[in-house]
Amino acid sequence: MKLVTRSNWGARPSRYDLAYIASTGGVKMHYEGTYVPKSLAAADAHSSCAGRMRDLQASHLANRVEDYSDIAYNAVVCPHGSVFEGRGPHRKTGANGNQALNAADYAVCAMLGNSGLVAPPDAMLDGLVDAINWLRNSGSAGKRIGGHRDGYATACPGDRLYAWVQDGAHRPDGSSPQGGTGSEASGIARYQVTIGGLPYGYGAKGAHVTAVGQALVAKGFGRHYKVGPGPEWTDADTRNYQLFQLSLGYKGTAPHQDADGVPGEVSLHQLLGYLPGKKTTSSVPPFPGRSAFVLGRTNPAVTTLDRGLIRKGFARHHDGNGYQPGPRFTEYTRQNVADFQRATPALAGDPDGYPGPQTWKLLLS
Ligand SMILES: [Zn+2]
Ligand SMILES: [Zn+2]
Repeated sequence: MKLVTRSNWGARPSRYDLAYIASTGGVKMHYEGTYVPKSLAAADAHSSCAGRMRDLQASHLANRVEDYSDIAYNAVVCPHGSVFEGRGPHRKTGANGNQALNAADYAVCAMLGNSGLVAPPDAMLDGLVDAINWLRNSGSAGKRIGGHRDGYATACPGDRLYAWVQDGAHRPDGSSPQGGTGSEASGIARYQVTIGGLPYGYGAKGAHVTAVGQALVAKGFGRHYKVGPGPEWTDADTRNYQLFQLSLGYKGTAPHQDADGVPGEVSLHQLLGYLPGKKTTSSVPPFPGRSAFVLGRTNPAVTTLDRGLIRKGFARHHDGNGYQPGPRFTEYTRQNVADFQRATPALAGDPDGYPGPQTWKLLLS
């Protein structure tokens, strides 16, 4: 690791003593989020990176709204792969959005912008993994790797860097951070979904579960069954269903990603050729809980939400290809929900774009 200590980059002292933190669940990625010139990535531009750190620190120290004690990040990584010591390990960050989020994860910032330099160079990705390993080894960070936008409404750390996070935060040579990634550690999905009024996923019971298993075997995705498919959904069903999802081109095998082995309506229809269960068009499905709607995360309930938005005509925010139903809760989803909330008198008081039970009920009824 190419570590540049605070004294090496000319840091000013902290305004107050920084809060000690024994450990965190993981590390969150950030970007500068303003214009960063592409020329910063040139090989001969590294001499300007220490000055950029001093500027970043100065801007944070000058921010009397946040009243920062110091630069908000635990580490900052430049395009050349150097890891600049920010607050450092065992110091609580100020960058993740609120006190709970700051206590939950460390914060690492990449010198990337929302224009100009937006794509992380290979050397920077190596530096980011170095910073993650440093915070794990010297700061007792857990295995989780996320982005500022996880659980907080922001574009940070930008789509390019966030895609790298979601893909497992590998080095350019493909190797993982030491100790693996959160997604590998979190193992097999053990939650249930309801499709057509019937439960699917770990622990779900019924003849419809047997039917799914039999269809998987018939299509050649039965290799995890030690005994034949039965009426109770087991990890073997999840693993076999995952093989089927991967064969459809779904990506992401961690829980709540698209290929986690828990059915969605589309894949289930493709597997069986029909959708079992009662018609639910007239009844509102149960509210899945606010945790189903986290910016940047996937959840089957988001697809249901999207269908309601489209049916009610709140779909003007999209990526340029029209608004399509899907499991990911994007900033477009949030903005379309906010439009619906603003347009609905009972909800107009808090149009934050995150569905609560009232928004869910009114949108889907
Ligand atoms: Zn951020
Ligand atoms: Zn540099």
